Amino acid sequence: MGGGNGANGAVAPVISEGYLQEIQSSNWSERHTAFIAGLGTFCLSYALISEKGCAGRYGSVITDIDLAPTPRTAKGLMENCLDDGDGVCNKCIERCPADAISHEKKDHNACMMYIIENVVGVYPEKYGVYTSGCGKCQTSTPCDRVNPKREK
Ligand code: SF4
Ligand code: SF4
Repeated sequence: MGGGNGANGAVAPVISEGYLQEIQSSNWSERHTAFIAGLGTFCLSYALISEKGCAGRYGSVITDIDLAPTPRTAKGLMENCLDDGDGVCNKCIERCPADAISHEKKDHNACMMYIIENVVGVYPEKYGVYTSGCGKCQTSTPCDRVNPKREK
């Protein structure tokens, strides 16, 4: 909706005063916002697969400016994942060094413990990179750079 007095507002939630982040949760999710905006769907590794794949990061700005919506590319919650009931893809399961991904669910604790022990304290000194994930489930997979369903 456009502002009635001609003045529009906008906020980037993760740099706003109201943003709260704890170890495993926060009160704003860029991934879920991207899903709501129609950019892609979730998948077995709980990443969001867009037409450009899942190896990336999202950022959001919420505004009341009238914008023409771009069409949603997928209908279902996990439509872009190859592991969708009709097909099976084990790649992110095989790639995860913490055994945190299964066909049933993702074990967030196992993922977090692996990252604390092997990434957060190691990568900055070894690679000069600060990161909150190991990223193996989002790289060298059929969905890392493309929507694998669109590739078919
Ligand atoms: S690697 Fe396969 S199962 Fe895992 S998220 Fe990507 S498409 Fe889905
Ligand atoms: S970020 Fe690393 S540890 Fe966590 S689920 Fe993905 S591959 Fe496994």
